[in-house]
Amino acid sequence: MRKIIVQKFGGTSVADTEKIKNVAKIVINEKNNGNDVVVVVSAMGHTTDYLVKMAKDLNNNPSNREMDMLLSTGEGVSIALLAMAIQAQGYDAVSFNAMQIGIVTENVHSKARIIDIKTDKLRKNLNEGKIIVVAGFQGVTEDGEITTLGRGGSDTSAVALAAALNAERCDIYTDVEGVYTTDPRVVPTASRLDEISYEEMLELAHAGANVLHPRSVETAKQFNVPLRVRSSFKTDNLGTLILGVDKMEIYKPVAGVAADLSQARFVVCDVPDVPGQAAKLFSNLAKQNISVDMIIQSYARKVSNTNDIAFTIDSSDIDKTLETLNALKPELKCGEIQVNSEIAKVSIVGAGMIDRPGIASTMFETLAEQGINIKMISTSEIKISCLVDKTDAQKAVKALHDVFDLSCDEVAEVKGDLPDV
Ligand code: ADP
Ligand code: ASP
Ligand code: MG
Repeated sequence: MRKIIVQKFGGTSVADTEKIKNVAKIVINEKNNGNDVVVVVSAMGHTTDYLVKMAKDLNNNPSNREMDMLLSTGEGVSIALLAMAIQAQGYDAVSFNAMQIGIVTENVHSKARIIDIKTDKLRKNLNEGKIIVVAGFQGVTEDGEITTLGRGGSDTSAVALAAALNAERCDIYTDVEGVYTTDPRVVPTASRLDEISYEEMLELAHAGANVLHPRSVETAKQFNVPLRVRSSFKTDNLGTLILGVDKMEIYKPVAGVAADLSQARFVVCDVPDVPGQAAKLFSNLAKQNISVDMIIQSYARKVSNTNDIAFTIDSSDIDKTLETLNALKPELKCGEIQVNSEIAKVSIVGAGMIDRPGIASTMFETLAEQGINIKMISTSEIKISCLVDKTDAQKAVKALHDVFDLSCDEVAEVKGDLPDV
């Protein structure tokens, strides 16, 4: 039986027609290796950012449904253009959007999860020898509503397709040569990792390393999909392989450093110290589909018998969170609600930190030496995160990358530019 390879190309890789021709070459090359190829593409260049900007120019608080209708159009353009570019080289190609295939998601707009992918049409077209080009990032509910998977979600479309088709591998082609010890735009001497475990990559992605969408790593781990991150522009380099931790040798306590600049911190002040308050607060946020990241509850103050509950969320959920908290205020009998979006979460990640004391203290000392104040701390077995002022984030990443000895002599090549919106 022929092997199926899923390839995914991000926005920079399909930013203009020349780059689309380059992608067509990579796709055809894989087909010529004797494999069946399913290609997932993102919207061209910064299309999605421009669509978001246009929406915000018209409406401060656009509905999530209309945002999904709008943002899903970006990928529609790139699939048709890539299919045409492949056909121009004499190969049979066909493009499909999520609705045509049946990439079924839950009924949630703006960050839907995939629940099922129909494979009949894909298999039929592959059996006819066609190269299939699929729109990333989008899905459809059982009722035929268009959804999107969240920003950066095309990675997840690709891995989910690879899992559904039992593909040999999923290759994520992007504008850097793999996964680095930190964002090479921030630290140009960051080292490329030959391999990293699903667990570490998942923590890094959640911590803000947007080279992979967190749910793509989750899905790859769950279905054991061999996943590679590699460059669209330097294809001789195999990039980074993401695999099970049991298959890895671990040399360093810290594998990578990441910063997430898209968080906001809420503090709910003077919450009466009685049972059920946290449950009320967080269940109401969950009902609104708001994901909470770090949480701190202070000790109850003796005199007032109240405490403060602080937590972080994604900045895109600020309005919804504020609305939910204001509605809940009378029931919680709490005081002031504070919001701060000028913060960043800086994290170090590494399976090698398990059972190795002193990693957290080195992190805190390093931040202190830089005069950086830590506002919140959270940890998992293989990650330590500190919340700092947004203006300190880059300084923190550089210092931590340095102290954990992660740099190399080479300067990483980064192809894409940052959006100018
Ligand atoms: P694509 O459009 O191909 O999906 P993204 O912009 O989503 O590309 O992801 C690639 C970018 O991720 C890189 O240009 C880089 O700036 C950033 N990045 C952040 N952290 C890392 C990391 N640890 N390793 C590699 N790239 C990273
Ligand atoms: N086009 C979408 C975005 O910019 C999805 C993706 O690129 O993965 O977020
Ligand atoms: Mg991406």
